[in-house]
Amino acid sequence: MVEPKFRIKQIFHWLYHHYVEDFSQMKNLPKALQENLSERFEIAPLKIATVQDSIDGSRKYLFELHDGHTVEAVLLLMKPKVYNEDGSLKHHERYTICISSQVGCKVGCAFCLTAKGGFVRNLSAGEIVEQVRIIKRDNGIAANRRVNIVFMGMGEPLDNLDAVAQAIKIMKDPDGLMISPHRQTISTSGLSHKIARLGKLELGVNLAISLHAVDDALREKLMPINRAYNIASIIEAVRRFPVNTRKKVLFEYLMIKDVNDDLKAAKKLVALLDGIKAKVNLIYFNPYPGTEFKRPDEASMVRFQEYLLSKGVLCTIRESKGIDISAACGQLREQTIAKGA
Ligand code: SAH
Ligand code: SF4
Repeated sequence: MVEPKFRIKQIFHWLYHHYVEDFSQMKNLPKALQENLSERFEIAPLKIATVQDSIDGSRKYLFELHDGHTVEAVLLLMKPKVYNEDGSLKHHERYTICISSQVGCKVGCAFCLTAKGGFVRNLSAGEIVEQVRIIKRDNGIAANRRVNIVFMGMGEPLDNLDAVAQAIKIMKDPDGLMISPHRQTISTSGLSHKIARLGKLELGVNLAISLHAVDDALREKLMPINRAYNIASIIEAVRRFPVNTRKKVLFEYLMIKDVNDDLKAAKKLVALLDGIKAKVNLIYFNPYPGTEFKRPDEASMVRFQEYLLSKGVLCTIRESKGIDISAACGQLREQTIAKGA
């Protein structure tokens, strides 16, 4: 243990506010403590294996873990920097950081590239938090600048809930990464019993459900986990989830051409969400070599969206950020492995 407690606070500030990775640079610690810490502990930042820049300003990172496995995270540019007329800064760039929770994934969705490589291991809380810290450091994003976090990289966050919950606590800590839980979103394939557990933890984070289909038969084909946790069980878990008063539960709906993009599905979706404070996010399926699925055309996306809006269901179409760098789940990692890197 490091005593007294305020020393821990100081170390946290060096790491998470100043991005310092060497005890000898933690200037307000006594020399003897710096040396003692360096002997007993190692600060091992995640290694950046590759970085790819997208023309839209997004940036994708492949991180190498201590055992050689890799995970990816993406810095998404949501809004560029804006200046006032007098040339002063109105607001900084608005960023969302998309992070991974596991190496691979056990859930095995038919459309997902991460699933193809199977499951390797859980990430530790430290490895989850590090993705954010390094991306902030690498892009000169000051600790107190606002960023959003989404657990939409590789892995199923609720299948690694203990580490994910610990990571959320470090991220929201004012002495840690200072990211409000209202700005953090967990995306899940729908492990209903874990949604209930997440709710009980009262972390204050937002919930996103990867629904993708409105009847169990199709959902089972796309997402085999639906056999264990069907649509009704997910909706029930969502109804019980403690949602922030000013927030909604996000329902992600991956649109796949000629599979789930018809208006019959849209109609059923409206009925399913009845009475839930929900927002639907339509996602273009992002194809990759070897997949049987196809990207839908824009007209069917818009038709689907307009139907939902006409029924009073909030619905947005997710812009395909970083599409030229394959920013969908698991795609950079797969390319790198294929090249033998
Ligand atoms: N395992 C969690 C979080 C990671 S996946 C989950 O499934 O929710 C994040 C999102 O990316 C999910 O909504 C997933 O369905 C989506 N996704 C997976 N493969 C995709 C692809 N090829 N194109 C577009 N989105 C994809
Ligand atoms: Fe896992 Fe999510 Fe990919 Fe499904 S979509 S295999 S749950 S990472």
